[in-house]
Amino acid sequence: MPLDLTMSVMNVRSVGARSAARLAKLGITTVRQLLWHLPTRYEDYSAAVPIAELVPGEKQSIRGEVIAISSRFIWPKRMTITTATLRDQSGAVRAVWFNQPYVGESIPEGTLLSLSGKVVLDKRGLSISNPLYERVTDAEHTAAEGLRHTGRLIPIYAETAGVTSKYLRFLIQPIIEQLDLPDPLPESVRRQYGLQSLSDALVAVHYPHRPEDAVRARERLAFDDLLLLQLKALRDRRQMNLLKSVRVPMDTEYMRTLVQGLPFPLTRDQRVAALEILKDMERPYPMNRLLEGDVGSGKTVVAVLAALHAARQGHQTVILAPTEVLAAQHERTLRTLVGPTMGVRTALLTGATTLVDGREATKPAVKRAVSSGGVQIVVGTHAVIRDDVRFSRLALVVIDEQHRFGIHQRAALMKSDRHASGVVPHLLSMTATPIPRTLALTVLGDLDSSLIKEKPSGRQPVRTKVVSSAERPRVYAFIRDEVRAGRQVFVVCPVIEAVQPDAERIASSPRPPRQGKLSALWAQVKAVQDEYQKLSKEVFPDLRVVMLHGRMKAKEKQAIMHEFKEGWHDILVSTSVIEVGVDVPNATIMLIEGADRFGLAQLHQFRGRVGRGAHASYCFLLPTDDGAARARLAALEKTDDGFALAEADMKLRGPGEFFGIKQSGMPDVTMEALGNAVLIKKARTAARAILRTDPQLKRNPLLAAQLAALQNLVHSE
Ligand code: ADP
Ligand code: MG
Repeated sequence: MPLDLTMSVMNVRSVGARSAARLAKLGITTVRQLLWHLPTRYEDYSAAVPIAELVPGEKQSIRGEVIAISSRFIWPKRMTITTATLRDQSGAVRAVWFNQPYVGESIPEGTLLSLSGKVVLDKRGLSISNPLYERVTDAEHTAAEGLRHTGRLIPIYAETAGVTSKYLRFLIQPIIEQLDLPDPLPESVRRQYGLQSLSDALVAVHYPHRPEDAVRARERLAFDDLLLLQLKALRDRRQMNLLKSVRVPMDTEYMRTLVQGLPFPLTRDQRVAALEILKDMERPYPMNRLLEGDVGSGKTVVAVLAALHAARQGHQTVILAPTEVLAAQHERTLRTLVGPTMGVRTALLTGATTLVDGREATKPAVKRAVSSGGVQIVVGTHAVIRDDVRFSRLALVVIDEQHRFGIHQRAALMKSDRHASGVVPHLLSMTATPIPRTLALTVLGDLDSSLIKEKPSGRQPVRTKVVSSAERPRVYAFIRDEVRAGRQVFVVCPVIEAVQPDAERIASSPRPPRQGKLSALWAQVKAVQDEYQKLSKEVFPDLRVVMLHGRMKAKEKQAIMHEFKEGWHDILVSTSVIEVGVDVPNATIMLIEGADRFGLAQLHQFRGRVGRGAHASYCFLLPTDDGAARARLAALEKTDDGFALAEADMKLRGPGEFFGIKQSGMPDVTMEALGNAVLIKKARTAARAILRTDPQLKRNPLLAAQLAALQNLVHSE
């Protein structure tokens, strides 16, 4: 009978309630989870050597007969020592176990053992210390089959208290040995991509003959998950294409007027992107487009053009930004671009600020203006979602810095019942974190993308330098010169790690997670205040220094950003709130304290705050320690290419960390595979092929069931 993977581990022979509880700590509650608890590495005990050829210091395996075995208890050390002598045709050697009294009891003299461990040389000669062992039936037995712990590549697993690798091998190996699983992958797909069967892959991943076998097996297992993700993306897309959206016919004449009214000529990439968006919006089903462009490439204006174009025909747009500072900035940009004459009305809605046409209004007034259709373009933070703002003719949702929004927030906005008209808006996501397309398709679903490669003309690359603490005075002198020349400066303070409240406090505190978050926030505020004190009182008493941090009221923050943009301050000391989007073209220096605490992609975002005008710009990176961090940060000195940096960052931190999907419940193999473009591509092609011949997955019931489970997982998140 095929093995039922959904069965509890309690059904595995010799697993009782206590072991089950321990296994649960490793996330193992079902047989499937047990089998998918893949080795983190392998010990190579594959070469069994004749005893005469043992080499001190190596980890080696032997096979031999136990000719003597005894245990003694050493009082002063409170320790049992078991010593056995093993013999093969080439010679004899001692095996020594510490504090494992049961070894002596379970191995009678005359037993044939396979034994693996570290070879030690001391005054008494050679011995093998604390070896793994198991009985073999025949000393000449050389085939690796049937051996669990010794004489081959031995799987080492993630462990926890009471669950050792040895115990896991003891549980997994018997199941693996007679594995007969139905395979969700159609035979044709397996053949086409040279993938082994599910059962073979599981056997090979736990007990590979050669390291390559494990690699191949992991790919097969990852392929299954990638295929599901692709099937889901394609099906979601199909679903989406069945939905109705607002058709916004292209008005070329009006677009021309808009573009001519801009203070600058659009770049070619901007024009192409805008065109692609407007074309999508002509269709009767919703657009799902990702606009990618490095920091400073000018994505905002493209989105604004689409919004204005829709507004002209009476449709509404909501533009969402991840921070209040950025939302306020967008709203301001929008109003300058719109001008008073165009007849388009705007609103800003964040947690703290509510404006209509740039004038303060109460929140209910804003919501009324939006639901009546009086306001065409709403800029806001997730407050727009939280406050359940109703639209009258919502045609377009723009999500800026989309990676800062959760899947649920995106989903909440797209839910059609939010909109009185019962149709789904077009969706434009924007990001400066370039994602390889194949990966975007997997993580974000099936979407179209537009890319702005070219930067607006006249931009100079930001000169970047990693600076040691000894060079600090020179950097300060340089800052003073730049300010004298009329430029402005950002100073970013390092992130402060949350002080982890100890376990006891977690248990007794009513709201434990917030504690850590709050204390981290306060630490951050303090860091900014200290830096502000230092810079304003000691280093630059003659300059206008101002600070910005998370404990300030939103209004205060917006006022400061506005003043800074207007040139009222020379130096802005801030937390990482200015990481995304902030646009102050007169700022030419970005100084980052504790630069080693940030990821490369994030640092690139900070750097993108300068170099937005015609002036030469500079980025100084000050690591907390002058040593190790330098090498990593040097990547930023070398390249200005956000794409290359994102890729380097992804390699360093792994795709899971990088995309913030670490907690998504995706298995580690899949997470690894997200970095494997070739495999993702194969999975995509396979998913297409399967759906072409079997759109409802009627002939692939296993896949259908797994897909349903995945849908549920996403919905219940
Ligand atoms: P990002 O893509 O990082 O969001 P922004 O949209 O904030 O970039 O634009 C960066 C700056 O470049 C803004 O000051 C914007 O007004 C300006 N800008 C955008 N497009 C052009 C252009 N074609 N020529 C000159 N400046 C431009
Ligand atoms: Mg932006």
